[in-house]
Amino acid sequence: MEQQKAPLSPDQHRTTTIEQGRFCVARCTCGWRGPARRARSLARSDAAGHAAG
Ligand SMILES: [Zn+2]
Repeated sequence: MEQQKAPLSPDQHRTTTIEQGRFCVARCTCGWRGPARRARSLARSDAAGHAAG
């Protein structure tokens, strides 16, 4: 996994959560993908942390 730290504006980080079986994964339009979580709230937290930089 690689995480980029490009100075993108918040508009370029559109995060969403998708369900994969029993898990929920946060994804971003920049290509970032969070770890699989059992709870959507955790996936959202991952997305929020990513979008915040
Ligand atoms: Zn992003």
